[in-house]
Amino acid sequence: MDRFIVNKNEQANGDHEVHNVTKGCSYMPDYVNQIDLGFHDSCRGAVAKAKSDWPNEKIDGCYYCANECHTS
Ligand SMILES: [Zn+2]
Repeated sequence: MDRFIVNKNEQANGDHEVHNVTKGCSYMPDYVNQIDLGFHDSCRGAVAKAKSDWPNEKIDGCYYCANECHTS
């Protein structure tokens, strides 16, 4: 299981990106802007968790560390 976070700040396109902390990412947001999503088998569980916590926000996987969940 890997630990995931979501960026508190949105990207230019309005997406909040989910990153894999266990795997590491050069595009990881600063610690103060990370919202912990806990441990998940894959980024899909982490994206689902972020969407249930923030139903009104756009959530997307990071292209670099959560590519299988990257859609936009
Ligand atoms: Zn990333």
